[in-house]
Amino acid sequence: MGQANNELLLKQIEPVKEMIKTCIQCGTCTASCPNIEFMDITPRHMWRLLLTDHIDALFSSKSFIMCSSCYYCTLRCPRGLELTNAMSLLKQAASKLKLKKFKSSSLFYKAFLDSVKKHGRVREMEFMTHYFISMKNPVIPFGYASLGLKLLAKGKIRPELPSGGKGKLDALFEKVAELEG
Ligand code: SF4
Ligand code: SF4
Repeated sequence: MGQANNELLLKQIEPVKEMIKTCIQCGTCTASCPNIEFMDITPRHMWRLLLTDHIDALFSSKSFIMCSSCYYCTLRCPRGLELTNAMSLLKQAASKLKLKKFKSSSLFYKAFLDSVKKHGRVREMEFMTHYFISMKNPVIPFGYASLGLKLLAKGKIRPELPSGGKGKLDALFEKVAELEG
């Protein structure tokens, strides 16, 4: 990571460090997390790395990307720390800084939210089409072809034409962006 990018990253994660500074390393967050088997390091370990300024090690891991925002850890942390929000801020930092390792996840989130913003819900076919286009890799869709056909056959998804015009939730998203500065 270049120096300029490193400085930006430090600036982005400073509020996260502040949020978890009273962590006592009890491990309750790790024990509560339903996605732990998909993480390469535990949430408790992540907070330790952050508090000891091992930022490169933290961003070498994809654990925070695996967080599904279920809020279990936040509800159970004995220090009452906002752990789910901390995870979200780490995802945002990786996305804002366009870190290559997280490119696929960032584009997936963007395509998902664009669909919600446009329709007030996810339109699966349109969302995945936008995701594949943004990845600029013609091979990726083939990996999903058999799953897509199965879902189509069972009526779980249906072909939908892309729609233009104003999004249903544009105003809501604009308000949130304004509040978040
Ligand atoms: S549950 Fe809270 S105090 Fe315990 S390790 Fe996790 S963040 Fe730290
Ligand atoms: S909010 Fe994220 S990190 Fe916390 S328990 Fe749920 S999935 Fe795990």
